[in-house]
Amino acid sequence: MKLIMLGAPGAGKGTQAKMIAEKYNIPHISTGDIFRANIKEGTELGKKAKSYMDAGGLVPDELVVDLVVDRVGQADCKNGYVLDGFPRTIPQAESLDAALAKTGDKVDYAINIEVPDQNIIDRMGGRRACVACGATYHIVNIPPKKEGVCDKCGESLILRDDDKPETVKKRLEVYHEQTEPLIKYYKAKNAEVEIDGTMDMNDVFDAIVKLLGA
Ligand code: ADP
Ligand code: ADP
Ligand code: ZN
Repeated sequence: MKLIMLGAPGAGKGTQAKMIAEKYNIPHISTGDIFRANIKEGTELGKKAKSYMDAGGLVPDELVVDLVVDRVGQADCKNGYVLDGFPRTIPQAESLDAALAKTGDKVDYAINIEVPDQNIIDRMGGRRACVACGATYHIVNIPPKKEGVCDKCGESLILRDDDKPETVKKRLEVYHEQTEPLIKYYKAKNAEVEIDGTMDMNDVFDAIVKLLGA
């Protein structure tokens, strides 16, 4: 099952993608996590990506497409995967489709998690992330057992630099301009499914599982 998560920043893509990956035993591939890990390690890619991310913009397509095409070609992706945060532009989607078409493959579902902008602003201020393992929490909605500490790995949780309100506003603009057109793109391929992302995270997950029909 080859899945992609669509939705605004903060819609809950990462939260759901992790649950999907666990249930269906497929890898969760988050381009945001890959960039943040590279920034933390101080790699060339991380250095290049950081300025775009801090400004709330997108990292240029050429820095992300090959990386993802490479990743989905690895052995653990044989039975499928859930892509979270990619594609984010039409050219990225076209590159992914072209790469998949070479082996007669395609994206099975583009899961579009719908959450209005106003809820997003509220959610982002409360998001806390673990840079060590990628887990995410919300100080009110989905708190960790111990404040400031990751349940999964024990590392400290941070408020991401790009989750500050000014940057979130910019990211939402970028989303509407460059990423939202993907909804139409995948609709035209009969791959898009829509989920109400304002429900409790477990209800969102149940709705996704029902739509995937397995
Ligand atoms: P969120 O989950 O809040 O939407 P991500 O962790 O997916 O955020 O991404 C964080 C940042 O990393 C984005 O704002 C963007 O700068 C960069 N990024 C992640 N994936 C991509 C991509 N596919 N194309 C371009 N930039 C990306
Ligand atoms: P994305 O990957 O789309 O940027 P996340 O999965 O990181 O989004 O979720 C954004 C924030 O909202 C996080 O703080 C997360 O804990 C919280 N969150 C996720 N799903 C829900 C939900 N269904 N209801 C309320 N808060 C949620
Ligand atoms: Zn952790």
